[in-house]
Amino acid sequence: MIKENLLHIKRKLPGNVTLVAVSKTKPVADLQEAYDAGQRIFGENKIQEMVDKHEVLPKDIQWHMIGHLQSNKVKYMASFVNLIHGVDKFKTLKEINKQAKKHDRVIDCLLQVKIAKEETKFGFSVDEIETILSSKELKDLEYIKIVGFMGMATFTEDKQQLEEEFLLLKTLFEKQKQTTETKNCKLQILSMGMSGDYPLAIANGSTMIRVGSSIFGNRNYK
Ligand SMILES: *Cc1c(COP(=O)(O)O)cnc(C)c1O
Repeated sequence: MIKENLLHIKRKLPGNVTLVAVSKTKPVADLQEAYDAGQRIFGENKIQEMVDKHEVLPKDIQWHMIGHLQSNKVKYMASFVNLIHGVDKFKTLKEINKQAKKHDRVIDCLLQVKIAKEETKFGFSVDEIETILSSKELKDLEYIKIVGFMGMATFTEDKQQLEEEFLLLKTLFEKQKQTTETKNCKLQILSMGMSGDYPLAIANGSTMIRVGSSIFGNRNYK
């Protein structure tokens, strides 16, 4: 089924939208099945789990860290992670920079913006984003590159609310894209949309969707 699910989603995807297959909690065999069907970008939300899967799966996979980050674990993925979606503290950016430097590579990052009304979701406010992007401290981080924003909408069926949240992020993205371009900041990616809301996210400007259960089935948290 994984192959069919993947192909079904990809058939309807606009050419400018990248699909991240969110494989958290799923066994390596499931990822291999998606790989065999052509998928090369996988998203995980736990660093240790991503490291373990990276070790045993083909080396041309691009690994995206989509979860909330613990600074002390960044070092375990710094040698190979392809894109970090969930940066929500300046301190974390500094740690990513430090670890990337050790491997002499630049790590692409997305800043997570809080668009949901729920208390539980992480992320910077719009004001904080503007402050960070214009700060001197950011310019000093030579081993990271800010390539866009990530957002998680409220878990709701209310289409109008979802649309408002996606548009908030899209508007911020377009504005900052026009005004901010430095050596380590070039906004190109807008990561929003999951299994339940990705068509709406795409309609509102998403260029990268993170889809798990619609590809791999429901997750079993033990
Ligand atoms: C789990 C997760 C997803 C995928 O969720 P689905 O509803 O299974 O598609 C997307 N983004 C983040 C940040 C996640 O943690």
